Amino acid sequence: MCGIVGYIGHENALTKIITGLTSLEYRGYDSAGVAYVLDNQIKIIKKEGRIENLKSALSLVDHPTIGIGHTRWATHGEANERNAHPHQAGKFTIVHNGIIENYQELKQMLEKNGYTMKSDTDTEVACALFDFLYRDEKNVLKVLEKATTLLKGSYAFGILCSDDTSTIYAMRHASPLIIATKENEKFIASDIPAILEYTNEYYLLEDDDIAVLKEDSLTFYHEGREITRPKQIFEGNLETSQKGGFPHFMLKEIYEQPKVIQETIRFYFDGTKDSLHKNLPDLQSYEDIHIVACGSAYHAGLVSKSLMEEIANIPVTVFVASEYRYQKVFYHAKTLVILISQSGETADTLASLRKAKEAGMDTLAIVNVVGSSIAREASKVLYTKAGCEIAVATTKAYSAQLALLSLLTLKLALLHNTIKEEELETINEKINLLPKQMEDLIHNPQYQKMATSIYHHHDIFYLGRKIDYAISMEGALKLKEISYINSVAYPAGELKHGTISLIEENTPVIGVITDSSIKEKTISNLEETAARGARIILISKEEIDKVDDLILLPHTHALLEPILAIIPLQLLAYEVARLRGCDIDKPRNLAKSVTVE
Ligand code: GLU
Repeated sequence: MCGIVGYIGHENALTKIITGLTSLEYRGYDSAGVAYVLDNQIKIIKKEGRIENLKSALSLVDHPTIGIGHTRWATHGEANERNAHPHQAGKFTIVHNGIIENYQELKQMLEKNGYTMKSDTDTEVACALFDFLYRDEKNVLKVLEKATTLLKGSYAFGILCSDDTSTIYAMRHASPLIIATKENEKFIASDIPAILEYTNEYYLLEDDDIAVLKEDSLTFYHEGREITRPKQIFEGNLETSQKGGFPHFMLKEIYEQPKVIQETIRFYFDGTKDSLHKNLPDLQSYEDIHIVACGSAYHAGLVSKSLMEEIANIPVTVFVASEYRYQKVFYHAKTLVILISQSGETADTLASLRKAKEAGMDTLAIVNVVGSSIAREASKVLYTKAGCEIAVATTKAYSAQLALLSLLTLKLALLHNTIKEEELETINEKINLLPKQMEDLIHNPQYQKMATSIYHHHDIFYLGRKIDYAISMEGALKLKEISYINSVAYPAGELKHGTISLIEENTPVIGVITDSSIKEKTISNLEETAARGARIILISKEEIDKVDDLILLPHTHALLEPILAIIPLQLLAYEVARLRGCDIDKPRNLAKSVTVE
């Protein structure tokens, strides 16, 4: 969510910042701005809308070598030029990602001390606080240390002070920020793609770290003391964040799924019980499981609840993280708390993790980004091998989460004797068939035609029962995220209790049936909608008559069915959004890594 890029070195800072911000565009934003040093003065330029608008406002003759830039995803105050970052108060100019929760009370205190805010943001209040503390302190480092004790909420800051225009200061708390280096050039950035064109060496800032960047030095401080942080090398390359011939990152990432799933599964499981024993955490002592996540990761949790309960016979409760962090939660000593997040920085999931840890629970994180906050703080972590995901609407990271959760289910089932060791061979064969089956589904030629028949509708319903309801929820979310069509998933039997009144001639209804035990029941519910004029699209592993379109799923083990069933739903959403001319990789109002609550 939002992007920060700063540069200090001997080359044109504006070029570096704009390139960096552009590669963070996938995170979502609504305005962009830069502050840079020219003749010892700090100059600010900001614009509403796309980075292109900012670019055309920049002066081509300015060649600063120090600057900070920002793409804003508004949380406090409208998305307009006045609220865009950087913000300036007195001697300080800052960019910020996150939310200052106590900004109202700080604002009152600052206004009493003569500050007048020019914007509606919480960020400007933090900036004024720095300036206010500087009146007495006259030392930026001390000011920032003091500020960490006064600011509540989440922040990653890039900071300039007009008394010392050859330094960039950076600090973070519960929002991501890295420092990257290349000889005498230094960067601050929200995420790795921003710096990959220039370097792959970086440092992760820990919560409450402060970094001081000068052309010839880089120093880290924590709680008033100078410290060191280990240098990291990013093993991927720029190509991993490029489209590779596909019109959209989302399509590229859907096509990558067969490989991603194979890599994720094979990293942990070679077909033997031994590999599950060695590579996955010991689950012996748990009697129930909480799964906590947001968005698609929450849907992955719901799918795995079905699998774990039905196949491994263990009770699972799935929570939306933004609720879990505040609600009354009943733990007992034998509960395992699983947190799922692609970025590993999802603010609500991180807060839920901290809550579970405070309650003394064992926590297991399933994340994609190595070294992210959730990965570092959980007692155990399992990585999905999805690689860098750029499209805001997740596809490959979601299915990699499903793959990993299926392996956990398998381990639990062996433990509880609900799957016999002899079955492992069959499951392993099914896993070997999976990439080809996924490829076939991806290349099914029907999606475009199906999309043409539904793309102009305002409401689309997804129906399924049990696990198929959970799969439908992710299908409906994909469609609404990228096509802006109001799409809702319902447990198939529930529609008649009210929502069926919305079905009219040609309303699209998309059914999902992987669970044969309730096949007839779901079919009856679909027929009820067809009787009222609905146009039925069915995703099913069995031929069923009387539907308008059918996508046939290949046969596999129940543990793997959700990984196959989601593919047609992803591609249908993609084709609909394309026909509607939507900005598929960067849907409006959405951000990739949701680092605010
Ligand atoms: N809360 C700040 C604002 O609304 C920062 C938002 C962001 O992370 O982009 O300006």
